[in-house]
Amino acid sequence: MQQVIHAFKEAISQPRRVVITTHHKPDADALGSSLGLAAYLKKKGHEVSVISPTDYPAFLAWMKGNDEVIIFSEDKTGRAAQLVADAELIFCLDFSVLSRINELGELVRQSAAEKVLIDHHLEPEDFATYSFWTIEASSTAELVFQLIVDLGDLHLIDAELANALYAGIMTDTGSFKHPSTTARTHEVVAQLIRQGANVHKVSKLIYDNSTLERLRFLGFALSEKLQVLPEYNTAYIAITAEELARYNSQTGDTEGLVNYALSIQGVVMAALIVDRTEAIKISFRSIGDFSVNQFARTHFQGGGHKNAAGGVSYQSLDETVQKFVALLPQYKEQLQAKILIYE
Ligand code: 5GP
Ligand code: MN
Repeated sequence: MQQVIHAFKEAISQPRRVVITTHHKPDADALGSSLGLAAYLKKKGHEVSVISPTDYPAFLAWMKGNDEVIIFSEDKTGRAAQLVADAELIFCLDFSVLSRINELGELVRQSAAEKVLIDHHLEPEDFATYSFWTIEASSTAELVFQLIVDLGDLHLIDAELANALYAGIMTDTGSFKHPSTTARTHEVVAQLIRQGANVHKVSKLIYDNSTLERLRFLGFALSEKLQVLPEYNTAYIAITAEELARYNSQTGDTEGLVNYALSIQGVVMAALIVDRTEAIKISFRSIGDFSVNQFARTHFQGGGHKNAAGGVSYQSLDETVQKFVALLPQYKEQLQAKILIYE
């Protein structure tokens, strides 16, 4: 990575027209790393625009720079497309394949701008001029932090920038519980706290910011919708479009729901299958060696990480659930494998 840093440092040595983009329905890592990087590049004198393919949860709106984010799917003016076409550098954060940013992907591909990939997802597409990619990182926010430090600019990380990066690390590690949490992760967080990150505030803003309807929906999903298939150590929750509407579900309201299914004793794979009307969206989680990245990639046009991945289906919700359940017998042995982490 040192050689890349050297060339990259040269690329940003002059003020540039920069676009930062991140994946469909950004989570705290996607948005936090993007806004953190944007704040840094602005301090360095660049002209920076952040473009998200879609909207994102209201519990992320506190991040500095949120007001300036352009939502591509809601942009009727063509401004976002113009910025992409005119950019000299386009940063792609927290995704590894251009299809993850929907129609924006082709615009990014066609732009003459140099592309910079900063990411920690499996199997990246080869489109970037500069790549800061490793699955060893807990989060993209951790990689952005590393990049700023490698460029000799730790002192430019102020409290608001530190909060945005901290949010990404906190959520992508499941609050420092996932196997991706390393000594390095904690060292990065310690540095962010020294730069002013407020861990209590960020945690409250992200995790304790529910509407009553969201909590009622959680109760409904756990009591009425959670299915467990002990034979396959699998649990899943399937939600219809009508049920989302009944609880006035907002973007982000299903975040974390799949983890309840995974928290059941003995469960190795969990899925949340939601009818988003335009498609059925699936979130997969696993523990141990069972790769939901592989599972999502093979059967549901998706991908992600070994233990957290997502995918999509264009069949009905019922058909998607049936397809999911019918796939389990061929994975029975893997799903029943001894879970070494409990030893
Ligand atoms: P989540 O279930 O929280 O939406 O996503 C879990 C992980 O899988 C995240 O790292 C996310 O970026 C990735 N992911 C989610 N949906 C998709 C998808 O449709 N395609 C790919 N390639 N990755 C996905
Ligand atoms: Mn991430």
